[in-house]
Amino acid sequence: MRVVLKECAWESLGEDLVLVHDPREALTLADPGGQVAALLDELAKGPATAAGLSAALRARGVELSEDDVADGLDGLDSLGLLEDAAERWLGDPEADERHFSTMTFLGAFSGLRVSRAEMMRKLRRSHVLVLGAGGGGSSVVQSLAGLGVGKLTIVDRDDVAPRNFARQFLYRHADIGRSKVERAAEWVREYDPAIEVRAVDRWIAGPEDLKDLTDGVDLIAGGLDGEPGAHLWVNEAALRAGIPLVGGGMGRTQLMYCSVDPGTSPCLLCDESDRPDPSSPTSGGVAQRLSQGLQLNNALIGPIAAQMGSLIAYEALRYLTGFEPPRAAGARVMLDLRTGLVPVWEPFPTDPDCPACALAPRRGTP
Ligand SMILES: [Zn+2]
Repeated sequence: MRVVLKECAWESLGEDLVLVHDPREALTLADPGGQVAALLDELAKGPATAAGLSAALRARGVELSEDDVADGLDGLDSLGLLEDAAERWLGDPEADERHFSTMTFLGAFSGLRVSRAEMMRKLRRSHVLVLGAGGGGSSVVQSLAGLGVGKLTIVDRDDVAPRNFARQFLYRHADIGRSKVERAAEWVREYDPAIEVRAVDRWIAGPEDLKDLTDGVDLIAGGLDGEPGAHLWVNEAALRAGIPLVGGGMGRTQLMYCSVDPGTSPCLLCDESDRPDPSSPTSGGVAQRLSQGLQLNNALIGPIAAQMGSLIAYEALRYLTGFEPPRAAGARVMLDLRTGLVPVWEPFPTDPDCPACALAPRRGTP
Protein backbone atom coordinates (compact mmCIF):
# COMPACT_ATOMS: atom_id res chain seq x y z
CA MET A 1 0.00 0.00 0.00
CA ARG A 2 1.21 3.49 -0.80
CA VAL A 3 0.51 5.79 2.11
CA VAL A 4 0.11 9.52 2.14
CA LEU A 5 0.47 12.00 4.97
CA LYS A 6 -2.53 14.15 5.83
CA GLU A 7 -2.14 17.93 6.00
CA CYS A 8 0.10 18.67 8.97
CA ALA A 9 3.05 20.76 10.10
CA TRP A 10 5.85 19.84 12.54
CA GLU A 11 9.00 21.16 14.09
CA SER A 12 11.71 19.56 16.21
CA LEU A 13 12.05 20.96 19.70
CA GLY A 14 15.04 19.54 21.58
CA GLU A 15 14.45 15.79 21.78
CA ASP A 16 10.77 16.16 20.95
CA LEU A 17 8.79 16.82 17.83
CA VAL A 18 5.74 19.07 17.92
CA LEU A 19 3.15 18.25 15.29
CA VAL A 20 -0.14 19.96 14.44
CA HIS A 21 -2.75 18.25 12.27
CA ASP A 22 -6.00 19.46 13.86
CA PRO A 23 -5.49 23.10 14.91
CA ARG A 24 -7.31 22.40 18.18
CA GLU A 25 -4.46 20.27 19.48
CA ALA A 26 -0.71 19.87 19.13
CA LEU A 27 0.94 16.46 19.47
CA THR A 28 4.32 16.15 21.15
CA LEU A 29 6.25 13.04 20.11
CA ALA A 30 9.53 11.83 21.57
CA ASP A 31 12.09 11.97 18.75
CA PRO A 32 15.58 11.97 20.30
CA GLY A 33 17.28 10.62 17.17
CA GLY A 34 15.32 12.74 14.69
CA GLN A 35 13.96 9.62 12.99
CA VAL A 36 10.31 10.67 13.21
CA ALA A 37 11.13 14.04 11.67
CA ALA A 38 13.07 12.30 8.89
CA LEU A 39 10.18 9.90 8.23
CA LEU A 40 7.71 12.81 8.10
CA ASP A 41 10.01 14.71 5.70
CA GLU A 42 10.03 11.73 3.35
CA LEU A 43 6.26 11.18 3.66
CA ALA A 44 5.65 14.84 2.84
CA LYS A 45 7.21 14.29 -0.59
CA GLY A 46 4.22 12.22 -1.72
CA PRO A 47 2.70 8.74 -1.64
CA ALA A 48 5.20 6.07 -0.63
CA THR A 49 5.54 2.45 0.46
CA ALA A 50 7.35 1.27 3.61
CA ALA A 51 10.10 -0.20 1.40
CA GLY A 52 10.48 3.04 -0.55
CA LEU A 53 10.60 5.10 2.63
CA SER A 54 13.20 2.81 4.17
CA ALA A 55 15.41 3.22 1.08
CA ALA A 56 14.94 7.00 1.01
CA LEU A 57 15.82 7.25 4.70
CA ARG A 58 18.92 5.14 4.23
CA ALA A 59 20.02 7.47 1.43
CA ARG A 60 19.95 10.34 3.91
CA GLY A 61 21.81 8.40 6.57
CA VAL A 62 18.87 7.25 8.67
CA GLU A 63 19.03 3.49 9.13
CA LEU A 64 15.47 2.17 9.53
CA SER A 65 14.49 -1.25 8.21
CA GLU A 66 11.28 -1.74 6.27
CA ASP A 67 9.75 -3.31 9.42
CA ASP A 68 10.85 -0.32 11.52
CA VAL A 69 9.23 2.01 9.00
CA ALA A 70 6.06 -0.11 9.00
CA ASP A 71 5.93 0.19 12.80
CA GLY A 72 6.41 3.95 12.50
CA LEU A 73 3.61 4.15 9.94
CA ASP A 74 1.32 2.18 12.28
CA GLY A 75 2.09 4.72 14.98
CA LEU A 76 1.32 7.65 12.71
CA ASP A 77 -1.87 5.93 11.54
CA SER A 78 -3.01 5.47 15.16
CA LEU A 79 -2.69 9.25 15.48
CA GLY A 80 -4.95 9.67 12.44
CA LEU A 81 -2.22 11.13 10.24
CA LEU A 82 -2.10 8.71 7.29
CA GLU A 83 -4.31 7.59 4.44
CA ASP A 84 -4.16 4.99 1.69
CA ALA A 85 -3.05 7.08 -1.31
CA ALA A 86 -5.30 5.12 -3.69
CA GLU A 87 -8.36 5.71 -1.51
CA ARG A 88 -8.26 9.42 -0.82
CA TRP A 89 -10.47 10.27 -3.78
CA LEU A 90 -12.96 8.47 -5.97
CA GLY A 91 -10.78 8.82 -9.03
CA ASP A 92 -13.47 10.44 -11.17
CA PRO A 93 -12.53 14.14 -11.40
CA GLU A 94 -16.14 15.30 -11.76
CA ALA A 95 -17.34 13.27 -8.76
CA ASP A 96 -14.30 14.26 -6.71
CA GLU A 97 -15.02 17.93 -7.38
CA ARG A 98 -18.72 17.57 -6.53
CA HIS A 99 -17.98 15.74 -3.28
CA PHE A 100 -14.77 17.59 -2.41
CA SER A 101 -16.06 19.03 0.88
CA THR A 102 -17.82 15.89 2.09
CA MET A 103 -14.69 13.86 1.36
CA THR A 104 -12.47 16.43 3.04
CA PHE A 105 -14.74 16.20 6.09
CA LEU A 106 -14.53 12.40 6.04
CA GLY A 107 -10.75 12.71 5.73
CA ALA A 108 -10.69 13.93 9.34
CA PHE A 109 -11.93 10.46 10.35
CA SER A 110 -10.21 8.25 7.79
CA GLY A 111 -7.13 6.09 8.21
CA LEU A 112 -5.30 3.20 6.61
CA ARG A 113 -8.14 0.81 7.50
CA VAL A 114 -11.12 3.08 6.81
CA SER A 115 -10.76 5.15 3.69
CA ARG A 116 -12.63 8.31 2.87
CA ALA A 117 -13.33 7.07 -0.67
CA GLU A 118 -15.06 3.98 0.72
CA MET A 119 -17.16 6.11 3.07
CA MET A 120 -18.10 8.37 0.15
CA ARG A 121 -18.98 5.36 -2.00
CA LYS A 122 -21.25 4.12 0.79
CA LEU A 123 -23.02 7.48 0.86
CA ARG A 124 -23.50 7.51 -2.90
CA ARG A 125 -24.93 3.98 -2.80
CA SER A 126 -27.27 4.82 0.09
CA HIS A 127 -31.01 5.01 -0.21
CA VAL A 128 -32.73 7.07 2.49
CA LEU A 129 -36.48 7.11 3.06
CA VAL A 130 -37.40 10.61 4.24
CA LEU A 131 -40.72 10.71 6.04
CA GLY A 132 -42.28 14.16 5.97
CA ALA A 133 -41.22 17.08 3.82
CA GLY A 134 -42.26 19.73 6.33
CA GLY A 135 -40.17 21.70 8.81
CA GLY A 136 -37.55 19.13 9.79
CA GLY A 137 -38.02 17.04 6.65
CA SER A 138 -37.30 19.74 4.11
CA SER A 139 -34.07 20.54 5.93
CA VAL A 140 -33.20 16.82 6.09
CA VAL A 141 -33.72 16.53 2.31
CA GLN A 142 -31.42 19.48 1.65
CA SER A 143 -28.69 18.22 4.00
CA LEU A 144 -28.78 14.64 2.65
CA ALA A 145 -28.71 15.89 -0.95
CA GLY A 146 -25.73 18.09 -0.11
CA LEU A 147 -23.89 15.16 1.49
CA GLY A 148 -24.29 13.19 -1.72
CA VAL A 149 -26.71 10.46 -0.65
CA GLY A 150 -27.43 8.65 -3.92
CA LYS A 151 -31.11 7.92 -3.62
CA LEU A 152 -33.98 9.56 -1.75
CA THR A 153 -37.59 8.53 -1.38
CA ILE A 154 -39.65 11.39 0.05
CA VAL A 155 -43.09 10.78 1.55
CA ASP A 156 -45.67 13.42 2.46
CA ARG A 157 -49.34 14.16 1.79
CA ASP A 158 -49.47 17.93 2.29
CA ASP A 159 -49.62 20.75 -0.18
CA VAL A 160 -47.45 23.85 0.14
CA ALA A 161 -49.16 26.53 2.27
CA PRO A 162 -48.17 30.09 3.23
CA ARG A 163 -47.58 29.19 6.88
CA ASN A 164 -44.82 26.73 5.83
CA PHE A 165 -42.59 29.58 4.76
CA ALA A 166 -41.16 30.33 8.21
CA ARG A 167 -39.11 27.16 7.97
CA GLN A 168 -39.53 25.09 4.80
CA PHE A 169 -37.00 26.39 2.34
CA LEU A 170 -37.58 23.80 -0.36
CA TYR A 171 -40.67 25.75 -1.39
CA ARG A 172 -41.26 28.98 -3.29
CA HIS A 173 -44.19 31.34 -3.36
CA ALA A 174 -45.21 29.99 -6.76
CA ASP A 175 -45.51 26.49 -5.23
CA ILE A 176 -48.41 27.36 -2.91
CA GLY A 177 -51.09 24.72 -3.42
CA ARG A 178 -48.73 22.22 -5.07
CA SER A 179 -47.87 18.80 -3.65
CA LYS A 180 -44.91 19.12 -1.29
CA VAL A 181 -43.25 15.87 -2.33
CA GLU A 182 -43.52 16.69 -6.03
CA ARG A 183 -41.86 20.05 -5.43
CA ALA A 184 -39.29 18.53 -3.03
CA ALA A 185 -38.31 15.94 -5.66
CA GLU A 186 -38.09 18.68 -8.28
CA TRP A 187 -35.81 20.67 -5.95
CA VAL A 188 -33.48 17.67 -5.55
CA ARG A 189 -33.33 17.05 -9.31
CA GLU A 190 -32.52 20.68 -9.99
CA TYR A 191 -29.97 20.73 -7.18
CA ASP A 192 -28.11 17.60 -8.28
CA PRO A 193 -29.37 15.57 -11.24
CA ALA A 194 -27.16 12.65 -10.16
CA ILE A 195 -29.40 11.97 -7.14
CA GLU A 196 -32.20 9.53 -7.82
CA VAL A 197 -35.36 10.76 -6.15
CA ARG A 198 -38.83 9.33 -5.82
CA ALA A 199 -41.84 11.29 -4.57
CA VAL A 200 -44.56 9.39 -2.70
CA ASP A 201 -47.67 11.50 -2.19
CA ARG A 202 -49.32 9.35 0.43
CA TRP A 203 -51.09 9.69 3.75
CA ILE A 204 -49.69 7.11 6.14
CA ALA A 205 -52.68 5.79 8.07
CA GLY A 206 -51.05 2.72 9.61
CA PRO A 207 -47.94 0.53 9.61
CA GLU A 208 -49.14 -1.28 6.47
CA ASP A 209 -48.79 1.97 4.47
CA LEU A 210 -45.05 1.88 5.17
CA LYS A 211 -44.42 -1.75 4.22
CA ASP A 212 -43.64 -1.27 0.53
CA LEU A 213 -41.49 1.77 1.22
CA THR A 214 -38.62 0.12 3.09
CA ASP A 215 -37.47 -2.26 0.32
CA GLY A 216 -33.84 -1.51 -0.56
CA VAL A 217 -33.74 1.35 1.93
CA ASP A 218 -30.67 1.81 4.15
CA LEU A 219 -32.11 4.27 6.67
CA ILE A 220 -35.34 6.05 7.58
CA ALA A 221 -35.08 9.74 8.45
CA GLY A 222 -37.73 12.12 9.75
CA GLY A 223 -41.15 11.31 11.08
CA LEU A 224 -44.87 11.52 10.56
CA ASP A 225 -47.22 13.96 12.15
CA GLY A 226 -50.95 14.07 12.21
CA GLU A 227 -51.71 10.76 13.89
CA PRO A 228 -50.91 9.97 17.53
CA GLY A 229 -48.77 6.85 17.63
CA ALA A 230 -47.47 7.32 14.07
CA HIS A 231 -43.91 7.35 15.44
CA LEU A 232 -44.51 3.77 16.63
CA TRP A 233 -45.58 2.66 13.13
CA VAL A 234 -42.32 4.04 11.78
CA ASN A 235 -40.43 2.39 14.65
CA GLU A 236 -42.07 -0.94 13.79
CA ALA A 237 -41.31 -0.56 10.07
CA ALA A 238 -37.65 0.21 10.80
CA LEU A 239 -37.26 -2.71 13.21
CA ARG A 240 -39.00 -5.15 10.88
CA ALA A 241 -36.75 -4.10 8.00
CA GLY A 242 -33.67 -4.03 10.27
CA ILE A 243 -32.71 -0.51 9.20
CA PRO A 244 -31.82 2.46 11.42
CA LEU A 245 -34.35 5.17 12.12
CA VAL A 246 -33.38 8.76 12.89
CA GLY A 247 -36.15 11.13 13.93
CA GLY A 248 -36.78 14.30 15.81
CA GLY A 249 -39.39 16.75 16.90
CA MET A 250 -40.16 19.90 18.78
CA GLY A 251 -42.36 20.53 21.79
CA ARG A 252 -43.14 24.05 22.91
CA THR A 253 -39.62 24.92 24.05
CA GLN A 254 -37.62 21.77 23.39
CA LEU A 255 -35.98 20.34 20.31
CA MET A 256 -35.20 16.63 20.29
CA TYR A 257 -33.65 14.05 18.04
CA CYS A 258 -33.06 10.35 18.57
CA SER A 259 -32.23 7.21 16.65
CA VAL A 260 -32.98 3.51 16.78
CA ASP A 261 -30.33 0.97 15.79
CA PRO A 262 -32.32 -2.26 15.29
CA GLY A 263 -31.00 -5.22 17.25
CA THR A 264 -28.58 -2.99 19.15
CA SER A 265 -30.33 -0.06 20.84
CA PRO A 266 -33.67 0.24 22.64
CA CYS A 267 -36.46 1.55 20.42
CA LEU A 268 -39.24 4.14 20.55
CA LEU A 269 -41.64 1.62 22.06
CA CYS A 270 -39.09 0.68 24.74
CA ASP A 271 -38.95 4.40 25.47
CA GLU A 272 -42.64 4.41 26.35
CA SER A 273 -42.31 1.48 28.77
CA ASP A 274 -41.56 3.64 31.81
CA ARG A 275 -44.11 6.39 31.14
CA PRO A 276 -46.80 6.84 33.78
CA ASP A 277 -50.04 5.03 32.99
CA PRO A 278 -52.36 7.76 31.61
CA SER A 279 -55.36 6.10 33.26
CA SER A 280 -53.82 6.15 36.75
CA PRO A 281 -55.25 8.74 39.17
CA THR A 282 -51.83 10.14 40.07
CA SER A 283 -50.41 13.52 39.11
CA GLY A 284 -47.96 11.71 36.79
CA GLY A 285 -50.78 9.75 35.15
CA VAL A 286 -52.99 12.82 34.71
CA ALA A 287 -50.10 14.87 33.32
CA GLN A 288 -49.35 12.07 30.86
CA ARG A 289 -53.00 11.99 29.72
CA LEU A 290 -53.15 15.78 29.36
CA SER A 291 -49.85 15.87 27.42
CA GLN A 292 -51.09 13.21 25.01
CA GLY A 293 -54.26 15.13 24.30
CA LEU A 294 -52.62 18.55 24.03
CA GLN A 295 -52.88 20.14 20.60
CA LEU A 296 -49.82 22.31 20.00
CA ASN A 297 -49.70 24.73 17.10
CA ASN A 298 -46.46 24.24 15.21
CA ALA A 299 -43.92 26.68 16.65
CA LEU A 300 -41.06 25.62 14.41
CA ILE A 301 -39.07 28.48 12.93
CA GLY A 302 -36.33 28.32 10.32
CA PRO A 303 -33.27 28.35 12.60
CA ILE A 304 -34.72 25.61 14.81
CA ALA A 305 -36.05 23.48 11.92
CA ALA A 306 -32.66 23.71 10.22
CA GLN A 307 -30.96 22.73 13.50
CA MET A 308 -33.20 19.68 13.81
CA GLY A 309 -32.83 18.70 10.16
CA SER A 310 -29.08 19.02 10.31
CA LEU A 311 -28.82 16.94 13.50
CA ILE A 312 -30.96 14.21 11.92
CA ALA A 313 -28.91 14.28 8.72
CA TYR A 314 -25.65 14.22 10.71
CA GLU A 315 -26.78 11.19 12.71
CA ALA A 316 -27.79 9.58 9.39
CA LEU A 317 -24.25 10.27 8.11
CA ARG A 318 -22.86 8.33 11.08
CA TYR A 319 -24.99 5.29 10.24
CA LEU A 320 -24.46 5.46 6.48
CA THR A 321 -20.67 5.85 6.49
CA GLY A 322 -19.64 4.54 9.92
CA PHE A 323 -17.24 7.47 10.25
CA GLU A 324 -18.13 7.33 13.95
CA PRO A 325 -20.77 5.41 15.93
CA PRO A 326 -24.29 6.87 16.14
CA ARG A 327 -24.53 9.28 19.07
CA ALA A 328 -28.30 9.19 19.61
CA ALA A 329 -28.93 5.43 19.30
CA GLY A 330 -31.50 4.53 21.93
CA ALA A 331 -31.43 8.00 23.42
CA ARG A 332 -33.16 11.33 23.15
CA VAL A 333 -30.81 14.25 22.61
CA MET A 334 -32.68 17.25 23.95
CA LEU A 335 -31.86 20.84 23.11
CA ASP A 336 -33.68 23.13 25.48
CA LEU A 337 -34.60 26.57 24.17
CA ARG A 338 -34.62 27.84 27.76
CA THR A 339 -31.01 26.85 28.37
CA GLY A 340 -29.36 27.94 25.16
CA LEU A 341 -29.70 24.69 23.18
CA VAL A 342 -26.97 22.85 25.07
CA PRO A 343 -27.54 19.15 24.25
CA VAL A 344 -28.56 16.79 27.05
CA TRP A 345 -28.64 13.01 26.51
CA GLU A 346 -31.48 10.96 27.97
CA PRO A 347 -31.12 7.23 27.26
CA PHE A 348 -34.30 5.27 26.53
CA PRO A 349 -35.18 2.60 29.07
CA THR A 350 -34.63 -0.93 27.74
CA ASP A 351 -37.71 -3.15 27.70
CA PRO A 352 -36.55 -6.79 27.48
CA ASP A 353 -40.09 -7.82 26.48
CA CYS A 354 -40.53 -5.12 23.82
CA PRO A 355 -42.66 -6.61 21.01
CA ALA A 356 -41.24 -4.12 18.48
CA CYS A 357 -37.60 -4.97 19.25
CA ALA A 358 -38.53 -8.65 18.84
CA LEU A 359 -39.25 -7.90 15.16
CA ALA A 360 -35.66 -6.88 14.40
CA PRO A 361 -33.68 -9.43 12.39
CA ARG A 362 -30.98 -10.97 14.57
CA ARG A 363 -27.53 -9.58 14.05
CA GLY A 364 -25.42 -11.85 11.90
CA THR A 365 -28.39 -13.33 10.02
CA PRO A 366 -28.92 -12.20 6.44
ZN1 LIG B 1 -38.09 -1.84 21.77
